[in-house]
Amino acid sequence: MLYFDNNATTMPCAEAIEAAGLAMNELWHNPSSVHRPGQAARAAVELARRALAHLIGAQPRDLVLTSSGTESIDLAIRGVLARSKRRVLVTTSVEHASVRDLAEHLGRQGVEVRELPLLPGGLVDIAALPGVVDESVALVSVQWANNETGLVQPIAEIAAAARAAGAVMHTDGVQWVGKAPADVQALDIDLLSYSPHKFHGAKGCGVLWVRPGVRLTPTIFGTQELGRRGGTEAVPAILAAGAAAKEARAWLAEPGAASSGATKRNVLEASILTSVPDAVVNAGGERLWNTSNIGFPGLEAEALLLLLSERGVCASAGAACSSGSLEPSPVLLAMGVPARVAHGSIRLSLSRYTTEQEVRECASAVAACVKKLRASGGA
Ligand code: PLP
Repeated sequence: MLYFDNNATTMPCAEAIEAAGLAMNELWHNPSSVHRPGQAARAAVELARRALAHLIGAQPRDLVLTSSGTESIDLAIRGVLARSKRRVLVTTSVEHASVRDLAEHLGRQGVEVRELPLLPGGLVDIAALPGVVDESVALVSVQWANNETGLVQPIAEIAAAARAAGAVMHTDGVQWVGKAPADVQALDIDLLSYSPHKFHGAKGCGVLWVRPGVRLTPTIFGTQELGRRGGTEAVPAILAAGAAAKEARAWLAEPGAASSGATKRNVLEASILTSVPDAVVNAGGERLWNTSNIGFPGLEAEALLLLLSERGVCASAGAACSSGSLEPSPVLLAMGVPARVAHGSIRLSLSRYTTEQEVRECASAVAACVKKLRASGGA
């Protein structure tokens, strides 16, 4: 199998599997229990929290452990709005569905939702910030890197505009954290969501970093997480997350880690473009090293994905949750990608474990499938 769907989820690393196994076999007790095995589980959870905090340059006590990136985002956005007297949420049209759908829902509940204007490639138009982010804004929520294209938003500039307006700044770092360096001390944001299953942890644990002093109303009440998020801790997923964070941090410290990944992605794109000259890379600016979004004009992405799947290549069209629908990706359309290209666009996403051999095999499979579809009139 050639797995090129790492923005959907990643294979757990060996250390994460071992940590989850330990939790299932031995540390299965309730971390809130006062007895000795309960306290052993507590100690393991706190060590995992520390590793997750170190990955973003944070203090462990400032992390809220949740069930997913989606829940972290939900807590950040609803939690801030519930506390604030201001009624405006600022976001973009290229956010993940966990932000877009929540914003739409909140809009129906009386929150004023403003979208930041985008430049033609999909980047937030910095020049437009002062006109949108004013003193009525409670929260600005903009993703760090886009899940479909890897496009990296100018978070520091957006955060500065939020700060100037006295608004809280949340960043959806689900695709960024664990794949690229993140330091919350250097970046002037207030809240950062991330998700260990995107960097070789396990599903079932998400993280929200909260800058000290930022107050949130919980969305799930209970005593855990210092009253910020109720629910008995998912110890296996949390220990896997901690192990994955440690591994990701070690990998990020290796010289040239991300650039060697980018080289593989670039080889993948170059060899596809050589075989399919009318293919288009949907980029739009600086991208996360592991993500490639390629359009094959006139083709139907779903047909291509099915053919690729038959050849053992796992890829996706846009967000995993919107595949299965024949609508072109709203993110690509918002970036200004023509509908004819957006319809035939697929996402190939690498991991730090992807090999050059896999890249070569994937490129030739893509080229062969595109040729086959075009020859059979499947375009
Ligand atoms: N935000 C982005 C940018 C994502 O790519 C995803 C998942 O694909 C999420 C949020 C949601 O994260 P989770 O799958 O952990 O709920």
